[in-house]
Amino acid sequence: MFAVFDRAGENGRHGHPRANMFDQPELEHLMRTNLKDQSTVTLRGNVEVTDVAQDGHGRVRVDFTDRLTGEHESVLATYVLGCDGANSVVRTAIGATMEDLQFEQRWLVIDVASKVELDQWEGVHQVCDPDRAATYMRIGDTRYRWEFRLLEGETAADFESIEALQPLIGPWVEGIPCDQLELVRVAEYTFRAQLADRWRDRNVFLLGDAAHLTPPFVGQGLCAGVRDSMNLSWKLAGVLCGDLPESVLDTYEEERRPHARALIRLAKLIGVSMTQGGRAGDLLRRLLAPRLHWVPGLRDRLLDGETPPLSRSALVMRPGRRRSLAGKLCPNALLTDGSRYDDVTRGGFVFVTDVPLSPQQRALLADRGTKVLEVRPGSRLYDWLSEGRATAALVRPDFTVMRAGRDVAALCEAMPRFRVAPEGDGRQVSGSYGPARCSPWRDVGEELDGRPQRRH
Ligand SMILES: Cc1cc2nc3c(=O)[nH]c(=O)nc-3n(C[C@H](O)[C@H](O)[C@H](O)COP(=O)(O)OP(=O)(O)OC[C@H]3O[C@@H](n4cnc5c(N)ncnc54)[C@H](O)[C@@H]3O)c2cc1C
Repeated sequence: MFAVFDRAGENGRHGHPRANMFDQPELEHLMRTNLKDQSTVTLRGNVEVTDVAQDGHGRVRVDFTDRLTGEHESVLATYVLGCDGANSVVRTAIGATMEDLQFEQRWLVIDVASKVELDQWEGVHQVCDPDRAATYMRIGDTRYRWEFRLLEGETAADFESIEALQPLIGPWVEGIPCDQLELVRVAEYTFRAQLADRWRDRNVFLLGDAAHLTPPFVGQGLCAGVRDSMNLSWKLAGVLCGDLPESVLDTYEEERRPHARALIRLAKLIGVSMTQGGRAGDLLRRLLAPRLHWVPGLRDRLLDGETPPLSRSALVMRPGRRRSLAGKLCPNALLTDGSRYDDVTRGGFVFVTDVPLSPQQRALLADRGTKVLEVRPGSRLYDWLSEGRATAALVRPDFTVMRAGRDVAALCEAMPRFRVAPEGDGRQVSGSYGPARCSPWRDVGEELDGRPQRRH
């Protein structure tokens, strides 16, 4: 064992365990089920998009074929979000191409189901074997995942049964009879690092793997796609409602592309340090890995999961200071009434302040659809403002700080008008974003932190 980075214990800044292992199809099943409950959404499955074309007057035509009936259909849309994966048709349609960030490795991905406990350490095992790098993790109550780098000449066809997999997975399943291990999936993937050269053409956007591909070593592929959609969806809602100018849509690529690039770079670094360098690399790993926890702050950095701040844009006003909160995420802190930041603020802009606002300032923010969150000494958000040398912060609907500082009057003035709120009062059940509507928030000017909320 080279080193152990234990993530157990305290929650991360988002209010949940720092790392979460799950089976992606289960998450996608939940998302599809949730979509069906959204009255504004029509879900069409089993169709294949064949073309996306813009008419030059702000309309996009999407052509698709129903796979069951073979019928060709079209829809007209104002905006199209291309989330169609690595081989994106939408990307081709807007003439974007992938920049190669120089990483390509073939790996075998194995999912096994078993009711027998494997009794392994519950974190992610990164096996830095110079002959064959590997990863192992538990991804559910009875689900286990292995990834092994394929050697020259090997293919998935060489490993199509539990018996054939024994030389690879043997160390983890020692003593467990093969008939207690069900092979759910064995597939070959080529891990790549790529970034689309542009993420937008007028009213068509690229999100997720259509815009970026990363080797999965830091588990940030799907996460990056989720960040894309968090970043873009509220901006689109604001533009469609008429609160935000169309130009804010430019900030999507400005903010997200450098962020995706930084995480791809990190994944490449981890991948290379885990897998490359032959015997010399192995020696270096043996020497360095056990000593990494001596590097001040590195352990926290690795385990905290904080990603780089978003780049400067019209919606991220960063001064030169490194400690500025702008572009960073507001922590999803526990408030003193036991609720979390995202329970009470989701959907709109929030003005987080550690000084009381004047009635005029409250009225101005209320008119712009902003919630006010007054924080008290001793609370997590109070400390967060202090660490960022700020008295107040403007937090966007995607929890990113737009601007922070000590001039409260100037910050109030800088707050954009954004009156899009989730259906209801913003207290949507966790996990559902709710259909957007254009209306002011109903509860304005309340002091959420430490005091009961006023409800109107
Ligand atoms: C082995 C492996 C391990 C991974 N581990 C992690 C991890 O630990 N953490 C993490 O965050 N990410 C991980 N990822 C990455 C993650 O799986 C992807 O980043 C994520 O699935 C991308 O989501 P997406 O919606 O952008 O694209 P996809 O998941 O590829 O979905 C695209 C969808 O569009 C549909 N589609 C494509 N073309 C068309 C068309 N013409 N018409 C209609 N529909 C179309 C497809 O059918 C598909 O449903 C891993 C990936 C691999 C391969």
